[in-house]
Amino acid sequence: MSSVRFEVLREIYNKKPIFVDKIERRSEIFGENVFNQAAMRQYVSEEAYQNIKNATEFGKKIERKQADHIAIGMKNWAVAKGATHYTHWFQPLTGATAEKHEAFFSVSDDHIPLEKFDGEQLVQQEPDAASFPSGGNRNMFEARGYTAWDPTSPAFIYNGTLCIPTIFVSYTGEALDTKTPLLKALNAIDEAATEVAKYFDKAVERVNATLGWEQEFFLLDKTLVHARPDLLLAGRTLLGHVAVEGQHLGDHYFGSIPDRVIGFLRELEIECMRLGIPVKTRHNEVAPNQFELAPIHEEANRAVDHNSLIMDVMDKIADKHQFKVLFHEKPFQGVNGSGKHNNWSLTTNEGVNLLSPGSTPMKNLQFLTFFINTIKAVHDYEELLRASVATAGNDHRLGSNEAPPAIISVFIGDQLTKVLDELEGVSKGKLSPQEKTELKLNVIGKIPDVLLDNTDRNRTSAFAFTGSKFEFRAVGAKSNCGSAMTVLNTIVAKQLHDFKKEVDALIDKKGLKKDEAIFNILREYIKASKKIRFEGDGYSVDWVQEAKRRGLSHHSIVPEALKVLLQKKTATLYKEMKVFNEAEIKARYEIELLDYARKLHIESQVLYEMAHNMVIPAALRYQNVLIENVQGLKEVFGATYRELGTEQLNLIEHIANSVKEIRKKLLLMNTEAEKAKKITDVQKCAEAYGYRVKAYTIQIRELCDGLERIVADDFWPLLKFRELLFSK
Ligand code: ADP
Ligand code: MG
Repeated sequence: MSSVRFEVLREIYNKKPIFVDKIERRSEIFGENVFNQAAMRQYVSEEAYQNIKNATEFGKKIERKQADHIAIGMKNWAVAKGATHYTHWFQPLTGATAEKHEAFFSVSDDHIPLEKFDGEQLVQQEPDAASFPSGGNRNMFEARGYTAWDPTSPAFIYNGTLCIPTIFVSYTGEALDTKTPLLKALNAIDEAATEVAKYFDKAVERVNATLGWEQEFFLLDKTLVHARPDLLLAGRTLLGHVAVEGQHLGDHYFGSIPDRVIGFLRELEIECMRLGIPVKTRHNEVAPNQFELAPIHEEANRAVDHNSLIMDVMDKIADKHQFKVLFHEKPFQGVNGSGKHNNWSLTTNEGVNLLSPGSTPMKNLQFLTFFINTIKAVHDYEELLRASVATAGNDHRLGSNEAPPAIISVFIGDQLTKVLDELEGVSKGKLSPQEKTELKLNVIGKIPDVLLDNTDRNRTSAFAFTGSKFEFRAVGAKSNCGSAMTVLNTIVAKQLHDFKKEVDALIDKKGLKKDEAIFNILREYIKASKKIRFEGDGYSVDWVQEAKRRGLSHHSIVPEALKVLLQKKTATLYKEMKVFNEAEIKARYEIELLDYARKLHIESQVLYEMAHNMVIPAALRYQNVLIENVQGLKEVFGATYRELGTEQLNLIEHIANSVKEIRKKLLLMNTEAEKAKKITDVQKCAEAYGYRVKAYTIQIRELCDGLERIVADDFWPLLKFRELLFSK
């Protein structure tokens, strides 16, 4: 076996698990490192506490004087817990989280050492924005930006540092992060959904969007990752294949979780408990070495923060255990990829889930209202939703092995399909008493409290109703869920806003009763949004054809998917919902395209080197062995050597041809990459990578993987899929 591969595998087999102390009662440590209500009660005055509570629950402003009190309480709490530093914690458009640590320690004018942290430091900071992506508009997105405290997401201590969740904006107020637009979208949905919820319960004061993400990931030994340049530099394998076509790796994997992995998962779960992240880990048996984390759902802004935080925590804890977490959407071609399912719903301040059917016809009408409006919103803005999950990594996942296609459709199940079909037949205008009774008893009255086909999940749909929530499955494992949540909440807000207007108009102008008006509008929405509903197999080729016939978009690569951002309809939506201005949209569009181009460029360069430095030399070395063998045959057998060595000669030729082809394509790929790199128009540049450069990387991979199949195992320098996926 190639010496590197052998060394790596031997090293792994000798590694020992690391166990942290087992904690029996998780409830005792839950949230101990979070400046939560219990901590606030203890460390801040009653007045300051009420202030922050109003800010969290009703989005009220915190008075400057109170911010000082809160800062002191927060600092005292943090220092008592051993924290020495604080940082504004934010989520710039790099996709990662950012921090700039400052010590609490300070010296007063009269040289007395003290621990200092006041309202000013809590509320606003000025990190150097120049190192974060800001899009093309340099004037507006100047190097100067500032972070501002988000009191709706609690501060926490991680690694001895008090972390304060903040937004990150430019001096002119433009968003430079994922949180700012998310908060605006959540505000929009709160306003619109509260107005609509009032049709059913006048006491509703506020509606929160909820999010329960499911994070999938691969866990690999660090040494394995370091031995593969592609995993190390691109986060995914650019070469390699599943040994047997169509092999279900899961079938081979029913063994128990190895101790080293248990050690990692245990420490991770304990840290999550301390940070107040209510997670459970599960072992996915879809692919070996693949796992899933899923928390109990929370208010969307906190859930997004928790997801961003946990990705960071996972990296750090994995490192301690000599593992590396792969968040890439498709680390291994031909093997199940990783997503981040976003389960989403709406809950009133009284704790009523608006997407949960109830026990009375009125509750069910409320459910149907929010349910149908969501479908209509997805119908109207399917392209925007697709764009919200568009990343270079996710392009590899959507539409292949156990992942939803790049076509957005809504799955609702048999029972609800029947209900919508019946509602479609509701009379126009006023309803007769008989029709009303019929509707109440036999249509909406029959929606069961718990939907029976809850378990009859269609896992092939990008956007599925799953009993009391919608599940957006197209989100990529590496993405910040803030992007998908911003779009989803914005489009549903806009839809609910329009719905309210239309219902009110029927009541005021046509004299319809409230429920009649609601039925009338819902009926029209059901008809208008039919094409987005699909109950069949989303993985099938037929669906691609059918979706095209229906006029649904199908963008398989990022530069195609992002074009929708430049549409007038998008600008109008965001302006109306007060989420983005045009400059911000444009900046995001550019940042994402540049990021895409950069990733594809890196991949092409890594592939170039791997093919040249590892694949071709291995193939030639093996070819030399074959040549020696044939020469030997000739020496021993004389004239008959040709016949005896037929297959060796074929292999020699095959290798020679493959090497020639690989070389040719590598050079062509490089020429295309160099050309693409020079294109100044970001759209055209990204397209050049997405079509021309990518096409070569696929062809080169096929050729190299062909060689992997025939070159002697002990000559092959790259760890094979079976070694990457089954070694622990
Ligand atoms: P799977 O999708 O793998 O079948 P589940 O149905 O158990 O798994 O998924 C449950 C997920 O849905 C959990 O992560 C949970 O947080 C989330 N969830 C449940 N109810 C809600 C809700 N009302 N709002 C948002 N997310 C929710
Ligand atoms: Mg799921």
